[in-house]
Amino acid sequence: MTAPQHRNTFFDRVVAATPGGELLSRCLQCGSCGGSCPSGADMDHTPRALFAMISAGLEDEVLSSNTPWYCVSCYACTTRCPQNIPITDIMYTLKEMAIRAGRYDHPHAAKFSETFIGFVEQRGRSFEAGLATRYHLFHHPQQVIKLGIMGVGMLRRNRLPLRPKSIRQIDQLQAILAEAKALAAKEVEA
Ligand code: SF4
Ligand code: SF4
Repeated sequence: MTAPQHRNTFFDRVVAATPGGELLSRCLQCGSCGGSCPSGADMDHTPRALFAMISAGLEDEVLSSNTPWYCVSCYACTTRCPQNIPITDIMYTLKEMAIRAGRYDHPHAAKFSETFIGFVEQRGRSFEAGLATRYHLFHHPQQVIKLGIMGVGMLRRNRLPLRPKSIRQIDQLQAILAEAKALAAKEVEA
């Protein structure tokens, strides 16, 4: 009897590196993920398109994409996916794979990601007003007026907190994040 062949395609590696990643094979290409993504306008491929590219084995194109770097981990796509695919976690996997492959070359998107992570590290949660303002001032200054008009509308409806709020016991989260960073640094050295 012939031993089963061990496959190690790009798709297999993405699946293996993501908790629940095996569900990716059930993607229907319905597009709900892209339709619910707040960062979609800045992404060069929608999450749906990126998953089709992973299935097609387009490793270079996927790892060069700015899409995972614009992901702000809001989980809107994950909660709406009819197939329960862990889309947000796949974005983390792709960022990690891109870093390992030396494809961390999206300064705009990386800045956006860093700003988001900065708020989470300091406050334990995102701060939409600060994130949008910093990002657009830096990269799309011509859109700041449009953003301001939209922000006033959201403020009126009480949908946009003006000041960042911290979660309780932020010190505990910061200790966990510091430990995670130390572990990740060791992994990279190994
Ligand atoms: S919502 Fe889910 S099933 Fe639909 S395209 Fe996105 S990942 Fe695929
Ligand atoms: S988790 Fe990322 S990919 Fe999904 S909707 Fe939010 S920003 Fe878009």
